Amino acid sequence: MKSGDFKTFLKNISKKGLTVLDVSIPKSKYSPIDLSESNKILNRVDVSSSSKLEVFVNNHIKKHDALVAFGGYLEVRNIYKRSNHFNSQDEEERNIHLGIDLWCDTETLIYTPLDGVVHSFKNNTNYGDYGPTIILKHNISEVEFYTLYGHLSLASIEKLKVGQEFKQGDQIATLGDANINGDYPPHLHFQIIKDIQEYFGDYPGVCSEKYLEFFRVNCPNPDILLKIDNFFSL
Ligand SMILES: [Zn+2]
Repeated sequence: MKSGDFKTFLKNISKKGLTVLDVSIPKSKYSPIDLSESNKILNRVDVSSSSKLEVFVNNHIKKHDALVAFGGYLEVRNIYKRSNHFNSQDEEERNIHLGIDLWCDTETLIYTPLDGVVHSFKNNTNYGDYGPTIILKHNISEVEFYTLYGHLSLASIEKLKVGQEFKQGDQIATLGDANINGDYPPHLHFQIIKDIQEYFGDYPGVCSEKYLEFFRVNCPNPDILLKIDNFFSL
């Protein structure tokens, strides 16, 4: 399937935006946030500190009378510079974000937007990594693809089983906090993955410029399913 076809397929799964967060939060309470290196206001914040980044995110949410700040697909970010996990010496810096982030309260309920089975899960404990992560496998009209949910609570993966089935709209997890999620303010990292390759319970959520062409095709914008941006452009 060509990349354009896969995107069209995803777009047509549902006319209405699907949801991965607590359904009682209306779309009007989502506010786009810019965490890119080109955001000059953010450049005055010490983003290596999860508490300072949290103040920045929470101020944004309050200022916009929102409950969720969202965004980040293909954003080039400085917030990964603090961790060797993204900056090993023999590799180009990984700073381009491949999912959508939904910044909201710890313990927010997380739902699967589509029927799926658990492909894998793992607590990814590197500094700056995902912490507890679930990957679901979907087969919709015989098209296979995966969705990844990162920065979850530990309880989310405690009783989970590979192969466990979930129906669209089932709760699959709750959101973790900075103690468990790789040291970030609480947020869900949601990513679509066409080919999971050899990964298990993990998949790169950030890439370097060198591999961007591959990853942007393999991981299309998750808002194709959520349609949050659409809501704001109507
Ligand atoms: Zn993310």
